[in-house]
Amino acid sequence: MMADKKEDIKDLSLPALYAKFKSLNEPAYRAEQVFEWIYKKGAKSFADMTDLPAKVRDYLANKYEISGVSLASMQMSKSDGTCKYLFELRDGETVESVLIPAKDPAGGASRQTICLSSQVGCAYGCYFCASGLAGFKRDLTCGEILAQALAIQSDLFRKGKRITNVVMMGTGEPLSNYDNVIKAVEIMNSPLGLGIGARKITVSTAGHIPGIRRYMQEKEQFELSVSLHAADDKTRSRLMPINNVYLLDKLMSVCREYTKEKGRIITFEYILIRDVNSSTTDAQNLVKLLKNMNCKVNLIPFNAVSDFKFSPPSFKEVKAFQDVLERGGVNSTVRSQRGADIDAACGQLRLREAKKSI
Ligand code: SAH
Repeated sequence: MMADKKEDIKDLSLPALYAKFKSLNEPAYRAEQVFEWIYKKGAKSFADMTDLPAKVRDYLANKYEISGVSLASMQMSKSDGTCKYLFELRDGETVESVLIPAKDPAGGASRQTICLSSQVGCAYGCYFCASGLAGFKRDLTCGEILAQALAIQSDLFRKGKRITNVVMMGTGEPLSNYDNVIKAVEIMNSPLGLGIGARKITVSTAGHIPGIRRYMQEKEQFELSVSLHAADDKTRSRLMPINNVYLLDKLMSVCREYTKEKGRIITFEYILIRDVNSSTTDAQNLVKLLKNMNCKVNLIPFNAVSDFKFSPPSFKEVKAFQDVLERGGVNSTVRSQRGADIDAACGQLRLREAKKSI
């Protein structure tokens, strides 16, 4: 007999769950109990939810499942503890996620940043990124995005730690899977969900303008990163096909609008590639592009990926680039490479330290 495919309860937001219990004539706090069981206590089945009446548990178990991901492989960096997970989804597709442990620069508690995928494969085909090499398969559901976080969280719990930061910088373009990503991010942010502060959750985009416009309307103060990688159209189009759809001046004007509207900073990601975008002239162009904008730049020396012919600039060139930015009044950090001894360095899952220097 073919079992009916059950709905993943993790696809329901808290308001949707409130509405569900209301329709069942159950008190609203049932939704909160279910949320806490799943996201706080890591319950894997409805039978675990011992403070729910048996009839509610049965109802939920008949209609829903708490869909998880299974671990297909894992690599841990010996030098810095960075962990790269390959998770298998219900349909056999796989996605990568990364855990990046770090000391707080201010000397506070340690940070546990997770980097999550938003899609299976990627349609954007940036010429430096391994994620798009195999093309695009499909969007992840909200429940699948959350399942990556829950799997890593249960690993961390065993060590007495918890997730402190989330970056949507794994495979895929988060803003082209907008609804699922935002719902997942809201659940991660919810005090009854993972309880991660909005300012510790970053969504990264290749420059999806309609998505940035929508994101601007979100009431929570989630962070925005924009993968810029070049300061002129010719170079940017050479690196990122999306630049042929959304030209740089359109992208920059929506970014300026974003910083004004939200009163929030944007982090621009800039991969430094030798002989492509890392000269002092490129740095000067970047200064002009970002003049008087509420932003900072995260410089990322290119991670060699065997399929691409690019290489990173020397340390000296990186420093010279950063000096031009500094003299031009543009704040920047250089992302330290993490997980150099594991595939995390290959750029397939770009390893981002999410250095929040401010
Ligand atoms: N589509 C979104 C989310 C993916 S994150 C976006 O473009 O922002 C993309 C990030 O991956 C880039 O900003 C960069 O930080 C990183 N990345 C991809 N390939 C890389 C490589 N070969 N070397 C270094 N960083 C890389």
